[in-house]
Amino acid sequence: MAAIAERVDYFRMLIDGEWTDGASTKMRPIINPATEEVVAEVPDGMPDDAHRAIDAASRAFRDWSRLTPYERARYLKRAADLIRERTEEIARLMTLEVGKPIKESRVEVRMAADYFEWYAEEAKRNYGDIVPQFVPQKRHWVIRQPVGVVATITPWNFPANLLARKVAPALAAGCTVVSKPDHRTPLTAMAIFKCLHDAELPAGVANLVTGEPAEIAAVFFADQRVRKISFTGSKRVGRLLMQQAADQIKRLSLELGGHAPVLIFPDVDVDKAAQWTVRAKFRNNGQTCISPNRIYVHEQIWDAFVERVVHYTKQLRLGNGLDEDTDVGPLIDANGLAKVERHVQDAIAKGAKVLCGGKRPEGDAFRKGFWFEPTVLVNVAPEMLVSCEETFGPVLPLIPFRDREEGIERANDSPFGLAAYLLTNDLRTVIEVAERLETGMVGVWDFAPATPQCPFGGVKQSGFGSEGGWEGLKEYLVTKHISIVLEP
Ligand code: NAD
Repeated sequence: MAAIAERVDYFRMLIDGEWTDGASTKMRPIINPATEEVVAEVPDGMPDDAHRAIDAASRAFRDWSRLTPYERARYLKRAADLIRERTEEIARLMTLEVGKPIKESRVEVRMAADYFEWYAEEAKRNYGDIVPQFVPQKRHWVIRQPVGVVATITPWNFPANLLARKVAPALAAGCTVVSKPDHRTPLTAMAIFKCLHDAELPAGVANLVTGEPAEIAAVFFADQRVRKISFTGSKRVGRLLMQQAADQIKRLSLELGGHAPVLIFPDVDVDKAAQWTVRAKFRNNGQTCISPNRIYVHEQIWDAFVERVVHYTKQLRLGNGLDEDTDVGPLIDANGLAKVERHVQDAIAKGAKVLCGGKRPEGDAFRKGFWFEPTVLVNVAPEMLVSCEETFGPVLPLIPFRDREEGIERANDSPFGLAAYLLTNDLRTVIEVAERLETGMVGVWDFAPATPQCPFGGVKQSGFGSEGGWEGLKEYLVTKHISIVLEP
């Protein structure tokens, strides 16, 4: 399927329970990054649509927030079931608009369903506290209530999961939402919202708008009824949003970029470590906020590890994500491709050596689309762009290290602090190193630490706030202390 022949009824905005083109005056083409063909067209929403969505969410909040968590859970579990039933349809849309291999899209859709199911349950445990009194005639209760209308802004690289991580806990907590997906990948979001709609959520509880990002975000920030904005995306935009949030002291979560280090210690099975590192690096073509970006290899295993990494990288099949045997798809767009090229050229100019890849692939299959070969670099220095900025592409830089101290120091030498990884079988090394790494997550042989029941989030310039776990529910709750004098 190159394109979607007929207009699908839900390729629209969802405002107050209705699928609508809203005030939009133009359609935006959605491009398949593997072929540059137009997959579908969606209305490009206007600020007025965001206003109407906030009106609807604000009206719906009163009743939705007063349902018991058990009642809200029934809707959310129905939505989770529908997402699972529609895995194939949603995964296909995702591959068409993002380019990622269909097998990765399926995993992502199932996990999006898991977020809805898990938060449906977790909100039932939104317990309060009874706090012992200091003054004998007083009693103190602490309760946690939904913050109000929530706006979410999400990127294109995981268009189902990153949306579900925000919308599921917000709805479960009793908030209503207005979501804005990335303008390049709205189809997956529309398909997820179709599941919420078909699960018969009351009108206005979950709204989806499209449009020019800065204009729509400006409406979210200016409207006092929007009590919280949850953003996932680049540091550049995160900084802009933080400045806008200051005006109204708006509550904000920022899940921003990372620059994940991997430390590979000499006690590992070198072949297995190389295979796992390659698989992790090229997942979603390296377009992952927790993608391994600096791979530090202990000098004792350097030669063998480098040889195995090149071996496994050369085996990766580059191709259209719809083919079942594709391992690596295209980059999202021409800008994404240009950034990868710039990083590789910069590295080469500063002395890096390309062991495989390093260029656009040749052949008819790659004449259209945004392709770059899976690339392995050595002789990598700290001043290269690949060492300090997110490449967000298929580039695997290898760097030797001497001992544990040097490894920790180099891993922490970054303004970002999202994820870090450790490959070792030595428990002392795991404890010592994991505790000293300055990141929100450490994966020990685990390159995919995101899971509904545990917190995901960064430190340093990777942002603040958590998604997943009880922490992810608290992002949508406010704390209230009720203090009672028994005998006034
Ligand atoms: P981006 O910041 O350009 O876009 C993200 C979202 O912000 C999109 O919905 C976009 O339409 C919107 N946006 C763009 N300009 C805006 C503006 N001026 N005002 C308001 N909204 C605006 O990010 P991107 O480059 O498309 O996405 C990749 C980035 O996201 C990477 O840096 C990646 O590391 C990060 N990311 C972080 C996580 C995490 O959980 N920490 C997860 C995935 C991606």
